[in-house]
Amino acid sequence: MPNNLTSLTIREARRLLDARQVSSVELTQAFLDRIQQVEDRVKAYVTLTPELALEQARAADRRIAGGSAAPMTGIPLQIKDNMCTRGVRTTCSSRMLENFVPPYNATVVERLNAQGAVMLGKGNMDEFAMGSSTENSAFFPTRNPWDLERVPGGSSGGPAAAIAAAEAMGSLGSDTGGSIRQPAALCGVVGMKPTYGVVSRFGLVAFASSLDQIGPFARDVGDCALLLSAISGHDRRDSTSLPNPPQDYAAALTGDVRGLRIGVPKEYFAEGIDPEVERTVRRGIGILEGLGAKVDWEVSLPSTRFALAVYYILAPSECSANLARYDGVKYGYSDHTAASMWEELERTRQGGFGQEVKRRIMLGTYSLSSGYYDAYYLKAQKVRTLITREFQEAFRKYDVLVTPTSPTAAFRLGDKTGDPLQMYLSDVCTIPVNIAGLPGLSLPCGFAGGLPVGMQIIGPALGDAAVLRAAHAYEQATQWHTRWPEL
Ligand code: GLN
Repeated sequence: MPNNLTSLTIREARRLLDARQVSSVELTQAFLDRIQQVEDRVKAYVTLTPELALEQARAADRRIAGGSAAPMTGIPLQIKDNMCTRGVRTTCSSRMLENFVPPYNATVVERLNAQGAVMLGKGNMDEFAMGSSTENSAFFPTRNPWDLERVPGGSSGGPAAAIAAAEAMGSLGSDTGGSIRQPAALCGVVGMKPTYGVVSRFGLVAFASSLDQIGPFARDVGDCALLLSAISGHDRRDSTSLPNPPQDYAAALTGDVRGLRIGVPKEYFAEGIDPEVERTVRRGIGILEGLGAKVDWEVSLPSTRFALAVYYILAPSECSANLARYDGVKYGYSDHTAASMWEELERTRQGGFGQEVKRRIMLGTYSLSSGYYDAYYLKAQKVRTLITREFQEAFRKYDVLVTPTSPTAAFRLGDKTGDPLQMYLSDVCTIPVNIAGLPGLSLPCGFAGGLPVGMQIIGPALGDAAVLRAAHAYEQATQWHTRWPEL
């Protein structure tokens, strides 16, 4: 069990900090101690920044003493290692960027810094966010705190495991096809992918730009809403950032879902789903119904079955363009053993990228090449529009859709590394949400075989507050978010 300070929610810590019953230095030290205690088993961090953390904590204590604390002042957080942190190595868990120290901060990091948050370190991930288990990290896999022989999910496995193991109060992840929600589900924590454009991606290392979105990990929905409020809002440095002003998402948490129209799309309970996961999620939806929501259990979204295929054309295509910049000249790793410039470029990319990244680059280059472009890339774009329209149609009738987050609970390390297709299937429930640019949140709704199960709540574009409200109401009526793994 985590100790008294590391098991607090951000809101509880805020009250104690503001009442001067605990200092940010004490709180931060408690997390550094906890990390010391469990990190060699969990491996949630690529880089730890204890000196920086304590320096930020001291600054936070001065700010609190001056009476100008913001919601995140003095709160110890982790950041996934694909968001640029000035002066702190940002690796994307890749050899390619193993020694890359960014000269600037991502906008989300700037916003947390402006509030006086504390950064404990950088979270482990699948290399360049490609994967569903964190086994594609070039450094080491992260382990699931509920069962150390199992994966935490991915690609934000470090952030999800860090929250479950009480190694941070909150974390930021990125979600291109499920990388926040799927690990949140597998580790029994809350993770949210906001509407595309709600959070700036300036300083997020790009994977698939039409899908990538940053979002929070937290112990519960209230903390998740606070973190989202802290990082969202327009940023002129990201051309896809929506012009909306920052919003107070915590204000949306009324606890009331009476009359909320919930749709349950049957395609998300199709073949491949673990029967115990299905039962657990259906029971979760039943609780929302008991709270007064109006549930339609028989919704159909037939284009769902194309989503995975569409994603595995579009995401690799975009990644093949985005990752062209790693040429051994501009950033990171460089192989200088070659005789010519071209050979150096080849060797750099051969040695710097892992298997899965190379597979994606080749898939993407193939589907973008002349002769195949129309058959693959263009076709996938058309089907993307169909999937998006189908969701829009559904949201005329329903306020939110509720599904499983992942078809199974956490699997064993090594179980899916030999079969990329099996690995890709772990995101079958989360990928459609990215394709349509919608908000989606995963929260714990029970256990299957002793492992956490996640329930996904999907909203219409800019329905982030509605998603949070439904999740919060469910959480108020249940106790899953108060359980901790034995570590
Ligand atoms: N698991 C999916 C993939 O491998 C999604 C990853 C992500 O959301 N970054 O692409």
